[in-house]
Amino acid sequence: MRCTLSSRLLLKHLDRELMHFILAVLLLYPDAYRPGEACAAAAESGGTSPEALLLCRACGHELAGGTDIHFVPSRLALSSRNHTVVGGRRVNIQMFENPHGHQFEVITFRKADVTLHWPAEKHFSWFPGSSWTVATCPRCATHLGWGFQPSSWPDTITKTKFGEAEETFLALITVRLLSEDFASTLLVTPKSFIS
Ligand SMILES: [Zn+2]
Repeated sequence: MRCTLSSRLLLKHLDRELMHFILAVLLLYPDAYRPGEACAAAAESGGTSPEALLLCRACGHELAGGTDIHFVPSRLALSSRNHTVVGGRRVNIQMFENPHGHQFEVITFRKADVTLHWPAEKHFSWFPGSSWTVATCPRCATHLGWGFQPSSWPDTITKTKFGEAEETFLALITVRLLSEDFASTLLVTPKSFIS
């Protein structure tokens, strides 16, 4: 009897601990996990133009053109696959996991119109030899991904230096992006409105 009782108490205690943990994760990382969004951007096949634009999914800000996409392979990627995302182009998407166990599918870009938050961090980099900064949307401040620069560089550099250097690149989270081709299909008048 006592044994059952203490087991129950233990379970209750564990339950509470688990709830606290989940609440803490949700409070600290509200955007960390949205299973419903998975592969949403990747699933939308683009149109035909290689110049097709990629927009911030939250506000529509133009972030990059299809030609800015530049594959930077990493041996730390959990998986890597091709998918049609922009202008009918096959784009390589890599999946990574952060130290908190949250997974992100990203596309790498040579450049994009994002705000980078220096100083850069050398630890836990998904691209060995590069340090990272958080990249947000310049219009709505949504977290869009990360900027990468050589870890031998100073932790803080200018936006101009980042933009002009060949060694720098960005990894943007696919589900936070929207292709312009897909966005324009949302503007088509529904058939029910046509008389
Ligand atoms: Zn935005």
